[in-house]
Amino acid sequence: MRIIAHVDMDAFYAAVEERYNPDLRGKPVVVGADPKGGQGRGVVTAASYAARKYGIRSALPISRAWRLAEAARRRGEPETIFVRGNRDLYVAVSGRIMAFLAESAETFEEASIDEAYLDLSSLDSFEAAAERARSLKLELVQREGLTCSVGIGPNKLVAKIASGFTKPDGLTVVRPEDVQGFLDPLPIRTIPGVGPKTEGLLHERGIRSVRDLRAVERLTLVDWFGRWGDDLFAKAQGISDSPVSNEWEAKTIGEQETFEEDTLDASFVLERARGLAREVFERLGRQGFRAFRTVTVTVRFENFTTRSRSHTEREPLEAEAALYASAVRLLQPFFDQRENPKQRMIRLIGVRVEKLVRA
Ligand SMILES: [Mg+2]
Repeated sequence: MRIIAHVDMDAFYAAVEERYNPDLRGKPVVVGADPKGGQGRGVVTAASYAARKYGIRSALPISRAWRLAEAARRRGEPETIFVRGNRDLYVAVSGRIMAFLAESAETFEEASIDEAYLDLSSLDSFEAAAERARSLKLELVQREGLTCSVGIGPNKLVAKIASGFTKPDGLTVVRPEDVQGFLDPLPIRTIPGVGPKTEGLLHERGIRSVRDLRAVERLTLVDWFGRWGDDLFAKAQGISDSPVSNEWEAKTIGEQETFEEDTLDASFVLERARGLAREVFERLGRQGFRAFRTVTVTVRFENFTTRSRSHTEREPLEAEAALYASAVRLLQPFFDQRENPKQRMIRLIGVRVEKLVRA
């Protein structure tokens, strides 16, 4: 019998901010770009639960978050505090949490800066696993002053969905015999990997809950979604056999930047691309890779249409200069008729590398 736990820190960046800055405690806190009185660009990275009550969520444009915060303030609710964030601090806190979690289970997998899977199968019962989870939660509060939500299930998929089920400070245990009953009423969006696009396509077909999805034939899903349809079919049944393993490898490394002002100044944009290429190349090295074969650039125009161009080399590229040169070649058409016939201003660019080669 497999028993997997998924640990997800609650509103991690915002919680760390509150922890290290007592003035913020309990207040609506938004980590992200500078809102500049509603004129700011970029997005919300994280929102505390108090800020979420105002409808502020991560990935929301910061200008929209500012307007929601203002509306709340005018209603007489507490003022929202916007902070730019301190990534070094989050990484340091995460490192301590992950080291602690890694000791607490035979097999451990760091899934992101604030999420991990633990394989607790050796405890032999869901009761014992729940007990372990309760003591982990307590210890994390004592050590770091941070709460997390834990989901326990017979596989990673169910554990992950369960950890999101009661937040913050939740513990949800889903035994094998309860998997289908637990999943069925949930909206399809709760299935990991179902984004707005898949959700939209399913909604058009009247499929809203996992139960609706489970009633669809596998071949029908394959017909609609190709190979992803196969995955989706398994997920709707709560089936997943992916192991808990820390040998996960980054498949892509990328950075992007939203400009302070929309621009079509090629020398400015290419200079920013140089900075992004440098950051991407440094991260590549830090994550244990030495080369890459694919370079992709993304451009978002003033009207928010987003386009990507990609190039794959036959031989791996090993130098920052090669990455930058490739990014420049891919970006050039966005300044002229080829990719930008209406001469739209550029709002954001991104640079990423794929098909990575281990050092
Ligand atoms: Mg989290």
